[in-house]
Amino acid sequence: MALESNDPLDRLWKEYSLAFRDFDDLTLARWLAQTLGQLEGKSWRLSHPLLGAYRLGAQAGHERQIWHKRLVTPPSAYLESPCCRAPSLPLLTRDVRESGLLCQHCSETLVTFEDIPGEVRPDVETWAAQYAPVHAVAHWDDRQRKSAGNYDRAYENAAQDAERLLARAGNELAPKLLNHFPTMVWEDHDECLEVRPEDIPAER
Ligand SMILES: [Zn+2]
Repeated sequence: MALESNDPLDRLWKEYSLAFRDFDDLTLARWLAQTLGQLEGKSWRLSHPLLGAYRLGAQAGHERQIWHKRLVTPPSAYLESPCCRAPSLPLLTRDVRESGLLCQHCSETLVTFEDIPGEVRPDVETWAAQYAPVHAVAHWDDRQRKSAGNYDRAYENAAQDAERLLARAGNELAPKLLNHFPTMVWEDHDECLEVRPEDIPAER
C-alpha cells in the first residue's frame, strides 16, 4: 500500500486514510489502543475492514510518532515492537522465510524468521516452501511457459493451490502463532495469481 503509487486501489486507500488526519495525536492514540483491545485474542484476515481501518490509523500514527510520545498505554498483552516501538501486531505473508513477520505499524520486519517460536516455525517453513513454487508460476518466463504446454491451465492450477495454501495459513498457522502473540494478521490474497480474499474458504 505504497502511498506514492498510482494504482487506483492505492489511491483509494490514501483517500480513506485522510479520515485520520482530523484526529489529533491523543485521539488517534486512544483510538489505536482501544482498537487493539478489540482485536486482541484473534487472528484476522488482512482484508477484514476492521483491520483495514486499524492499519490506516497505525500508518498515520507511525508517521506522527504516536508511540514515541507515550500518550496512552496500549493493552498489556502487546509487547513493544523493536522496529518502531508500536505495540506488536505481526502479519504472516508468503515471504515469511525472507522477511519474517511484518509490523503493521511501520511495515518492517517485526519478528525475523529465526525468531519465530520453535513450536510453530517448522510448520511455517514447510508452508512457505510449498507456497514458493506455486507463486513462482505467476512469474514464469517465456521458456518456462512454453515448456508447460498450456500456461493458462498451469496458472489456474497454481491459483487454486494458492487458495488452499492461504486457507491453511488462516486456519492452521495463524491460530498456532496466536499462542505466542496477542493478535495475528494473515495475508488472504495473492495479487500475482489473482487470488482474492473471497476465493479463500472461511475459517471453520
Ligand atoms: Zn514497526
